[in-house]
Amino acid sequence: MPPQSNSVEQFDYIIVGAGSAGCVVASRLSENPSHRVLLLEAGGKDTNPWIHIPVGYFKTMHNPATDWCYLTEPDPGISGRSLQWPRGKVLGGSSSLNGLLYVRGQPQDYDHWAELGNHGWSYEDVLPFFKASEDQEQGENRFHGTGGPQKVSDLRLRRPIAEKFIAAAVECGIPYNPDCNGEVQEGVGYFQQTAYKGFRWSTAKGYLRPALKRPNLKLLTRAQALRLQFDGNRASGIQYQHQGEIHSANAKLEIILCAGSINSPQLLQCSGIGDPALLSSLDIQPVHSLKGVGKNLQDHLQIRLVYKTVDRTLNDELNHPLKMMGVGLQYILTRTGPMTLAASQVYIFTRSVPELDRPDIQFHMQPLSADKPGDGVHPFSAFTSSVCQLRPWSRGEVRIKTKDPLEYPEIHSGYLSDDRDCKVVVDAIKCARRIAAAPSLAPSLEEEFIPGSHYQSDEDVLQAAREFSQTIYHPVGTCKMGDDSEAVVDSKLRVHGIDGLRIADASIMPTIVSGNTNAPSIMIGEKAASMITES
Ligand SMILES: Cc1cc2nc3c(=O)[nH]c(=O)nc-3n(C[C@H](O)[C@H](O)[C@H](O)COP(=O)(O)OP(=O)(O)OC[C@H]3O[C@@H](n4cnc5c(N)ncnc54)[C@H](O)[C@@H]3O)c2cc1C
Repeated sequence: MPPQSNSVEQFDYIIVGAGSAGCVVASRLSENPSHRVLLLEAGGKDTNPWIHIPVGYFKTMHNPATDWCYLTEPDPGISGRSLQWPRGKVLGGSSSLNGLLYVRGQPQDYDHWAELGNHGWSYEDVLPFFKASEDQEQGENRFHGTGGPQKVSDLRLRRPIAEKFIAAAVECGIPYNPDCNGEVQEGVGYFQQTAYKGFRWSTAKGYLRPALKRPNLKLLTRAQALRLQFDGNRASGIQYQHQGEIHSANAKLEIILCAGSINSPQLLQCSGIGDPALLSSLDIQPVHSLKGVGKNLQDHLQIRLVYKTVDRTLNDELNHPLKMMGVGLQYILTRTGPMTLAASQVYIFTRSVPELDRPDIQFHMQPLSADKPGDGVHPFSAFTSSVCQLRPWSRGEVRIKTKDPLEYPEIHSGYLSDDRDCKVVVDAIKCARRIAAAPSLAPSLEEEFIPGSHYQSDEDVLQAAREFSQTIYHPVGTCKMGDDSEAVVDSKLRVHGIDGLRIADASIMPTIVSGNTNAPSIMIGEKAASMITES
């Protein structure tokens, strides 16, 4: 046990976690110079140069210097496999090592949150927060903002195989859509990304860096929150580990947990807030019973179809030493080319079956391929057509194994545990194959390499999904907002039954949004800060 420091510093607000949402909350709350704000981040500073080069996520994920490197429990839904679940452990959190794709989801996602009783979270309610955060390269309109801290720009890479993929989708009846964050989401087009002039634009860069000039904001890196401290039913302070010592800090007004979908529920459970059965089994003194803490875990599961091509793809450029030098040079001289590559180039939002009223699957098309994300590219020409179900019914759970806050919790991913998801996944793979067979793309293809065309019957296709799927890194929902028996926070993000404690990160989503989760997490940070300063 490290030694305990005797001094206890006083703040108005304490924020745990400098990630996508935490940097936003810290920046907004410290705008008022009379607020003393402490921001604790378990990871280090974002000094690794690969954080800032878009393609650098290949170097920063699965790297313990920047990634928590979580591993899920063996999951029967995916043939007993455990998956690597990277989560940013560095300033900017996962916005410093994610795939940079800027996607907000569908208006109906937020309207659904409001219908569940979460007043103030309809699409019309949250749109102003998306816009306030944004500095959109394309300029301002009803859906986009300019002048905000979060830069959003167009991709700086085009490749012929991606153009053919888009044409093939259009031939399958999917309309071309230049902006999936605009009037309609449905369609095929090029992603927008959280980058600026060829560099990643994390929330640490956009929000935190300017705010750190303020004397009322104190940031501690490599400072891991261990437990909340209470005064009756009020969260009054936090115990954290920093530079080999245990410290305490008190919050006069509020503590805001922004530690993400794995660590926010872990911190609550270790602090005695959670399912009483779990707490008593681990000999943790219960503070407040909230049986939904850690439950309701949702993620997007991607099925990655890899096609060998007769056309050249990025694999050929990245496998060729001379061409690789050219790629490096292009980036240094023009800040364009493959080094600026976000995790994907082309999106499709479409319906797995035509009877649906809105898209339920999303494609991420990459002009390259690997056995799994983060691995080296294949030694042949190929591209990846990854497809995921947008609103899965399956649920998993995060639960601590011991009362030690430094020990990783168990993550039960729960993939494909609901039969309805199994059907969507099979339909999604059929849709991917229809696009591959369309006239604009088919002549460029040599074979379906993964999973392989021998998987044909619905049972076989589902089996392929169980064997070849991967996370697309969007765990949410483990401290869900609502007023039912499993809800952890109310619609103002206040933890039920505890005063002075809110949660503002991806864990509060009652249901996963129909798209990537970074922009929604930033929006949650913006809305949380606004609600805190208004209260
Ligand atoms: C590899 C990868 C690729 C992704 N690609 C995309 C993408 O392209 N587009 C997209 O929209 N989304 C993407 N996502 C998802 C998206 O980035 C996340 O949903 C979003 O960043 C979550 O934000 P958050 O604020 O909830 O948590 P995070 O950003 O993860 O922040 C949590 C922070 O809290 C810190 N922390 C945790 N516990 C403690 C503690 N006890 N004490 C102190 N600090 C603590 C962490 O170190 C971290 O900095 C990706 C995620 C990953 C990991």
